[in-house]
Amino acid sequence: MDIFLEESALLGLLVASAEVYKKECYGVLLGYRLNDRFIVSGSIAYQSADRKPSEVYLRPHRRRVVESVLKNIPKYRVLGEFHSHPMFADRRATIRLGPMDAEDMAGEDVQILVAINDKSRNQKWIAKADGSISGTFGNHHFNIGAYYYRGGVKKRKPILGRLCCPFATTLQGPTGKNSTRRKVG
Ligand SMILES: [Zn+2]
Repeated sequence: MDIFLEESALLGLLVASAEVYKKECYGVLLGYRLNDRFIVSGSIAYQSADRKPSEVYLRPHRRRVVESVLKNIPKYRVLGEFHSHPMFADRRATIRLGPMDAEDMAGEDVQILVAINDKSRNQKWIAKADGSISGTFGNHHFNIGAYYYRGGVKKRKPILGRLCCPFATTLQGPTGKNSTRRKVG
């Protein structure tokens, strides 16, 4: 399954994760689903989330509030949620799902994880072999992965889809030799 991340959705993820660093951010993904892919058009951080370095909590009715607001815009629906994993002390964050991370994820959802770490140097945005994308923006290094359930059924663990974000290649990065890895877009 491919997950396309549009420009404003990526910016929303980057800004939400950086704003509350080194705590977790949490929010909702908007967009639509085609047969073989998700199109993520927007990402909106929940303002009422309880943020801690390694967990984020939100009373469950918030998502329903967002959904009820959006039902007036037929083009978009809530596709799922996102949260960040920030660097903690000197332990670098990853996009690995935590034990509770898939608990509220429905079978047809997509869930995006943003690992945000201190930046040691600029890194151009690349697509990684596991389907995630990574690069630097501002003062941070990011790795972003999108999970879904195979067949849309909540049975086994969600798996990483192939995240595509042509806009990411336009973000500031060092000029130099091109990566031989898969293009981001
Ligand atoms: Zn998590």
